[in-house]
Amino acid sequence: MGLDKERPQLIVNGRRIDGRAPDELRPIEMEVGVLKNADGSAIVSFGNTRVLAAVYGPREVMPKHVAMVDRAVIRCRYRMLSFSTEERKSPAPSRREIELSKVIREALEPAIMSELFPRTAIDIFIEVLNADGGTRTTGITAAALALADAGIPMRDLVAGVAVGKVDGVIVLDINKVEDMYGEADMPVAAMPGVGRITLLQLNGVLSRDEFSQALALALRGIRKIYELQKEALRRKYVSTTEEV
Ligand code: UDP
Repeated sequence: MGLDKERPQLIVNGRRIDGRAPDELRPIEMEVGVLKNADGSAIVSFGNTRVLAAVYGPREVMPKHVAMVDRAVIRCRYRMLSFSTEERKSPAPSRREIELSKVIREALEPAIMSELFPRTAIDIFIEVLNADGGTRTTGITAAALALADAGIPMRDLVAGVAVGKVDGVIVLDINKVEDMYGEADMPVAAMPGVGRITLLQLNGVLSRDEFSQALALALRGIRKIYELQKEALRRKYVSTTEEV
């Protein structure tokens, strides 16, 4: 592929390129309710990957003909801002962004009780502020918080993380370098309380055993991310209630 000459060694003495252990998440930050004009919002960082999510709705559907009589229509737009990548990203929607918008919507839809709001729309906007791998799973994690912040009834929160295989080792929460030079990457999202996987993609090749190991590692990471989501919601809502 020509890349091999420059390919960095991804595991040195059992540690990853950024010093993490194979089963270690990046430092995670979450804040809920960061935008005044959206019905719900959240900003989430996994290391250098930083994503903002905003939710509007349930609200009147425009154009009217896309409305559904038995539930809310859920729309999602994932976008990478021009300054979010090392090389300027064109502001025109790419095929990748269109595909990821659909994939992210499908990962969130099972959690939303859309049947409670027929003939309305719920709009989810995901803006990647800084990209360093795992933007779709960080976007899903942020959007779930923004949906909860908007007061939209949900079956559970959705949390996501990408696992991968780098230098033959299965690792949690891969960054961009690991995504680029690793042997496989596998983004996963789930509703941990309900026990349902809502996103599972695999790019690259894993053996059956490696796949089982990778999925178990992802689900353990998702559990931790889920606890952080609940803490972030409590931080906003418990302190607000106390002030009242
Ligand atoms: N990336 C980029 N420009 C692009 C697409 C991707 O710089 O147009 C980088 C970015 O850091 C992203 C990573 O490559 O997080 C991996 O992209 P992928 O398509 O695998 O999706 P992600 O891991 O972000 O969900």
